[in-house]
Amino acid sequence: MIHVAHLIHRKRDGEELSEDELAELVLAYARDEVPDYQMSAFCMATFFRGMTAVETHAVTDAMVRSGETIDFSSLGRKVVDKHSTGGVGDKASIVIGPIVAACGVPFGKMSGRGLGHTGGTLDKLESIPGFRSELAGEAFIRQVREVGIAIVGQTAALVPADKKLYALRDVTATVDIDPLIASSIMSKKIAGGADAIVLDVKVGDGAFMRTLEEARALARTMVELGRLAGREVVCELTDMDQPLGRAVGNALEIAEALDTLEGSGPPDLTELVLGASAQLLALSDLGVDLEEGGRRVTEALGSGAARELYDRWVRAQGGDPDRGALPRAGVVRPVPAPAAGFVQAIATADIGLAALRLGAGRLHKEDAIDHAVGVACLAKRGDRVEADAPLAEIHARDEDAAARAVAEVEACYRIGDGEPERKPIVLDVLS
Ligand code: URA
Repeated sequence: MIHVAHLIHRKRDGEELSEDELAELVLAYARDEVPDYQMSAFCMATFFRGMTAVETHAVTDAMVRSGETIDFSSLGRKVVDKHSTGGVGDKASIVIGPIVAACGVPFGKMSGRGLGHTGGTLDKLESIPGFRSELAGEAFIRQVREVGIAIVGQTAALVPADKKLYALRDVTATVDIDPLIASSIMSKKIAGGADAIVLDVKVGDGAFMRTLEEARALARTMVELGRLAGREVVCELTDMDQPLGRAVGNALEIAEALDTLEGSGPPDLTELVLGASAQLLALSDLGVDLEEGGRRVTEALGSGAARELYDRWVRAQGGDPDRGALPRAGVVRPVPAPAAGFVQAIATADIGLAALRLGAGRLHKEDAIDHAVGVACLAKRGDRVEADAPLAEIHARDEDAAARAVAEVEACYRIGDGEPERKPIVLDVLS
């Protein structure tokens, strides 16, 4: 039996804990046998002392063992998954899933809800009328087999240790600890059953990782955790110094995902989804390399096959795939540019927060969200704008909310002379 105070003491003093000790700690916490105050002290000690690779693996493995896991072996196919560490306007999975499935690769993903200023794929999908996200184990596996794609909410039975630990970290200033972020994400991906995973580690103002170096360190840890669990992982580091695409807000993002599936999406989103989809094909059991993968995903988008697959997928989960069925906000107002010039920078986290305050996200865990509201960032970094031209468009519930958001979003844009340097969307790839 572990002596928890002693473990905290040793971690605080920089000692490496054994795999058995850490496994017991995580599993005992999941069984409510370790109180929150001890676990939060342990997390804070970890904040200052970090974890070795062996310790991080032990924690991840115990988190996976704390609950049920998904087993796709009955498909006789390699199932792929994609995960983003969280950003603003990130609807990539909703485009990547149907592209990859249209290329004949089974795609099975468990998704989360919005966190802080970042949106969640599940909230976005639930803006589709009728869409059901709570498919449990067997139904999830069956849909991946029969339709080629399922994106569902994580059930309470999957990695319960993370559910509890994440909620505790959220309120004890211990979210931003690399080994704990890596084990939290990877335990859910490993338990989710996919054989190969593309991770999109967001970097910049709208992400949890602010610098490329921080993002690389997290990516390396996650690739290694995947390898130790027998999963193939490719990590893309992508720009989150501006929203991805234009739309920020649930139904607006579904509409933009549809634009992209129809070949008329914003260039940055289109480039990101084609690149990540090609990576997934190269990891799949199709036996193609990245170049051939790229050719096939471009074909799936251009031929309309991915768009058709989106319809089949959404119908399979009870939703109406018609864009006309998406909810619309009652009030739409432009955000005029205060002066002519080039967009130098966009305060991305603040755009996410403006959308959240409009009702697109939650201030408290139990808040209901308004799927129709959000922000469309019409001008992106490097774009030239004239004075009074619309920088963005606010989709709001009422005039008061719209007026507040117009001021907030205007303050997010920095306009100046001189064209800023263009940054690629994919900053680095690690495997
Ligand atoms: N996303 C997660 O799932 N876990 C973390 O710890 C941070 C982001």
